[in-house]
Amino acid sequence: MKFEELNLNSELLKALKILKYDDPTEVQEKAIPLALSGKDVIVRSKTGSGKTFAFALPIINMLSQQKQLQAIILAPTRELAQQIDSEVRKLDRATKTILLYGGVSISPQISALDRGAHIVIATPGRLLDHIERKTIDLSAVRFVVLDEADRMLDMGFIDDVERILAKTPKSRQTMLFSATMPEQICQLSQRYMNNPEQLMLQQDEITVKQIRQQVFGVDRKQKLSVLTKILRDRAAKKTIVFVNTKDWAKSLSDILYRKGFRSTSIHSGLSQSRRNVVIHDFNAGKYTILVATDVAARGLHIEGVTHVVNYDIPRNPKDYVHRIGRTGRAGKEGDAVTFVTQVDQHLLRAVEDEIQMRLEVQDLAGLSAAPIESPMKMHHPVEQIKVHTHSDSSGDDWGLD
Ligand code: ADP
Ligand code: MG
Repeated sequence: MKFEELNLNSELLKALKILKYDDPTEVQEKAIPLALSGKDVIVRSKTGSGKTFAFALPIINMLSQQKQLQAIILAPTRELAQQIDSEVRKLDRATKTILLYGGVSISPQISALDRGAHIVIATPGRLLDHIERKTIDLSAVRFVVLDEADRMLDMGFIDDVERILAKTPKSRQTMLFSATMPEQICQLSQRYMNNPEQLMLQQDEITVKQIRQQVFGVDRKQKLSVLTKILRDRAAKKTIVFVNTKDWAKSLSDILYRKGFRSTSIHSGLSQSRRNVVIHDFNAGKYTILVATDVAARGLHIEGVTHVVNYDIPRNPKDYVHRIGRTGRAGKEGDAVTFVTQVDQHLLRAVEDEIQMRLEVQDLAGLSAAPIESPMKMHHPVEQIKVHTHSDSSGDDWGLD
């Protein structure tokens, strides 16, 4: 199947040719005709399968020239909103877009809305803010896209999304895209969509079994020394270290940098342009360690990750799968290490429930004794190491020292 067969206008076909996109992906081939027919659609298709063009192409194709707000695209994070925006701009320069997300001043957004656009790409919270301030006119909206609906659910945006849907014209065409289809998303679609056509393609399944998972019981104050040993001993080429707060993401990256690691960080305290630079540099190999928070790393295309370290075990067990799924992609070996303190044991139980696997907590002797079948061990023999421990274990730690 070729893009030419999809009834898209010649401008779009020309743009696709210039961008060297020859053939539509499966989700594009199947979703574009449904969208062009005017139907509401629910599309489940895995990450990286090309969902953005699957809604962007038909919407641009159906827009009228009039500079009126005709389409709303909702995304869970500003990174994702920005990615969508740049894809849309690549396809058609004449289509005006406005990006709305929180954490930045609202007044430039209000001015942009005054000047007008065809498409608004937004995170739910900030869009609601504009709706409440009456700085956005939704009366001409004909298309609403919920992109990465499962992530919006995970991040607690589902009520905001419902409120937004309730404020847009009933006659709209609603399109929902997601990499997985949890029950609550199906319920939402029943309430807010009009007899939707369902397209259920292969969903995201993160095969945690391919990833070598290790859990170490540590005291809070041991984490840093254990981390640096892992980074050195495993000759980790490209590692993401996950932490739970943005302040600590920055501090930990600085500490590692001072210890001689090529380390950088990504978190919600960074400007959008700065985050883009960080991801670009990490993908390009300028840095080997990325210290990240879940929200900042979500949905980004980060390639070739060999190791994931959960310096802090995630508070939301779903994030565990998203985190370790960053490694071991495309049949490559992956290595995931999780630190768990005594107080965080209940979080480990929640992770185990989520992945339906038992994760044995090893003491730090297991750090040097990597499993024998591990390919990492064969390539990089791990020497016996002594982990220096502090002797100030408080009651909330394992007391291993
Ligand atoms: P998803 O939203 O399903 O995770 P994206 O829409 O972000 O996937 O697309 C993933 C990558 O595939 C992007 O880099 C995009 O430019 C590229 N891509 C999309 N459509 C095509 C196509 N038809 N041919 C080749 N590459 C494509
Ligand atoms: Mg996407």
